[in-house]
Order: sequence, then C-alpha cells, then structure tokens
Amino acid sequence: MTRTGFYPGSFDPVTNGHIDIIARSAKLVDRLVIAVGVHHGKTPLFDGPERVAMIEENVAGLAKKTGIEIVVTTFDNLTVDAAREAGAQTIVRGLRDSGDFDYEMQMAGMNDAMADDIETIFLAASPAVRHVAATFVRQIAAMGGDVSPFVPKSVAGRLAKKRKK
Ligand code: ADP
Repeated sequence: MTRTGFYPGSFDPVTNGHIDIIARSAKLVDRLVIAVGVHHGKTPLFDGPERVAMIEENVAGLAKKTGIEIVVTTFDNLTVDAAREAGAQTIVRGLRDSGDFDYEMQMAGMNDAMADDIETIFLAASPAVRHVAATFVRQIAAMGGDVSPFVPKSVAGRLAKKRKK
C-alpha cells in the first residue's frame, strides 16, 4: 500500500517552519500531498497559484533526494474530504506551542468524528524554526524588515517584489 500523507495549510507564504515539517513527514510516507487552502472569505497576500509555486520551488530537491512523490495542490473544501480525495490515510500538522496544541487538538477531534479512517499525525516543531509564523513573516516584510532567516530565498524575493508593487 502506498502511504499517503496530506499536509494542509495556508502557506501564505511557505516558511522554513513548513519546510521542516515537509522534510520530516517525507520520512514517514511514500507520497506527500501538500494542500494550500484557498477558502473563500480569506484574502491572502499570495493567491493560490503563487503559494503553490513557492512550495514547488522549494520541495523539488527533497522529492529527488528522498525518492518520494510530492504533490502540491489547492483545496477549498473540508480538510478530511480533500485528504480522502487525495488518497491519504494521514493528515500531517505541525505543533509550535500551546496555542497550536489547543487549536489542533480540537480540529483533530472534529476531523476524527467526521472521518475516523484518517489519522492526524502531529510533528513537534524543530527548535530552530519553532518561532516562525507566516503571519509575522508577512508583517515584517510589509514593513521592509529582513525575512531571510525565516523563509526560503525565493520566498524572500517574492515578498520584496510584492512590497514594491
Ligand atoms: P501559519 O499558522 O504559520 O499561518 P499554516 O496555517 O500554513 O501556517 O500552517 C499549516 C501547518 O503548519 C499547521 O499545522 C501549523 O501548526 C504548521 N506550522 C506552521 N509554522 C510552523 C513552524 N514554524 N514549525 C512547525 N509547524 C509549523
């Protein structure tokens, strides 16, 4: 059986924290589907295709290195439905702190009630990137700060371009 993991998020933009979770979940599955939520009602800084492109740019090397299949896609329905459509048995989430823990426990519980065939797996954030949050990255970039410690190079470049517009 192909073990498929489903990693959902906003990824607005993808950060070194997300990349760390992706690299570590790649050790657990044969196929990883990274799914960018494009739900209506939220106005992201980067649109769906831009967020997908930024992830793709930064996971191609990992797919080659590990030999696993990595698919980057968008979704606008329930996470459990999107995970099932992707053929996943597991949903991967990262945990940074107690705020994440409380929110994620609730979400995992509700997802389990809706789809008990899909297990949520939590990966503890690595100490080096535990503080990184996409919200802060967007705020720092908007005010002209240096985001290079928090995001891949290509993402820092796109954030700088966005600011100039
Ligand atoms: P954010 O919460 O930063 O806006 P997302 O909504 O895109 O990011 O998060 C998707 C998933 O990635 C969530 O499970 C979140 O907890 C996890 N995540 C985000 N940043 C990190 C990080 N620095 N380390 C570990 N996990 C993270």
